[in-house]
Amino acid sequence: MLRELGKTLRIRQQPETTPSCRVCNAAGTRFLCDVQNEHSETNSLQNYRCQGCGSVFVGNPVDSDELGIAYGSMDADRYFDEIEIENKRKMRGAIERLDALVSRSARLLDVGAGNGQFIELLDEAGYSDLSAHEIPGGNLSKIGAVACEVYEDFDYSLLPSNTFDVVTLLDVVEHVIEPQSLVDACARVLKPDGLIYFHTPVVTRIDRLMHHMQALPGLRKVGAMWQRGRTSIFHLENYTPGSLTLILERAGFRDIEIETKNELSWPVERYIRTYMMRQIGLPAAMAPVFVPILSPLISTNFFNANKAIVQARLA
Ligand SMILES: [Zn+2]
Repeated sequence: MLRELGKTLRIRQQPETTPSCRVCNAAGTRFLCDVQNEHSETNSLQNYRCQGCGSVFVGNPVDSDELGIAYGSMDADRYFDEIEIENKRKMRGAIERLDALVSRSARLLDVGAGNGQFIELLDEAGYSDLSAHEIPGGNLSKIGAVACEVYEDFDYSLLPSNTFDVVTLLDVVEHVIEPQSLVDACARVLKPDGLIYFHTPVVTRIDRLMHHMQALPGLRKVGAMWQRGRTSIFHLENYTPGSLTLILERAGFRDIEIETKNELSWPVERYIRTYMMRQIGLPAAMAPVFVPILSPLISTNFFNANKAIVQARLA
C-alpha cells in the first residue's frame, strides 16, 4: 500500500539548487516534497517553504502558456458547479464584510471574476457599479448581464488607472505566477484611499506539522499526500500573514487587516475521497468512516485556518 502511495506522490530527495521565494526574494527556501501533476507537461511539482516569510510554493518555473494548458484541461462548468454551495456561502460572507466597509454605490472591480457568481450576488445585494476582470478564454456570459465593464487580458493593462473605489479578488492571488504584479495592478486601478479586499489560502498549523513530517522517513509520504491537497499547478502558493503584508506594503497599501479562518471549498468527505482514499488503496465508499476522525483537523480554525481574509487601503 505504501509503495503505491510513494509511486503516486513521487517522493524524492531535495534538489541541489532551490528557487528563491517569489514573495520576499529570500534565497533560503527549504524543499518539502514533490507531488504529481496531471494537468500540464510538468509531471512533478516541487514544493518549497521560504525560511524568510514562511510562504509555501511550487518552485517549478511554470509560465503562463503552461498555466493555460492546465486550465484548458479543466471542465470549468463542472468545477464551478461542484463548489457552488460553499462558494455562495463564502461570497455572501464577503458581501457582509464589504457592506461594513463601503457604500453600495461604490465603483467595484472584481478581479478573477470566474463564472460571474460573485458579481451576480453583489448585484442582488444592491451594488450598482460593478466591473469584472478575467483572463481571456472564460465564459463571461453571466457577467455581461450585470457588469458595467468587462475587461479581459493577461497583464491587467486594459484596466483604467485611478478609477475604482474597491477591488475584490476571491481566491485569485494563489493562482498567479507574479502575485506582486497583480497587487501592484490593483493599487494602480484604485483611487486614493481605495479598498482592496481578498481571500487567499495561507499556511496553517496542520500544514506546518505536515512539513515536519515530510522530512521524516516513514512519515514523509503522509506529509506529501497532505501537500497534494494544498498546492498544485492551480494553487501555486500558500501565503502567510507576513508574506501578504509584504506584498501589500510594497504596492503602497496601509491599514492592512488580515483575519485567518477555516474556509473549505468542499465537504470534508470529498477532500478525504479525493486526496486520501485512492492513494492509500482503500475504496472511495469508505471515506465517511474517516470524516469524524479527520474533521477536527481539516475543518477547525485551530488546526486549519486555511484562508486569509484581507483588507487594506491605498495610501
Ligand atoms: Zn519568502
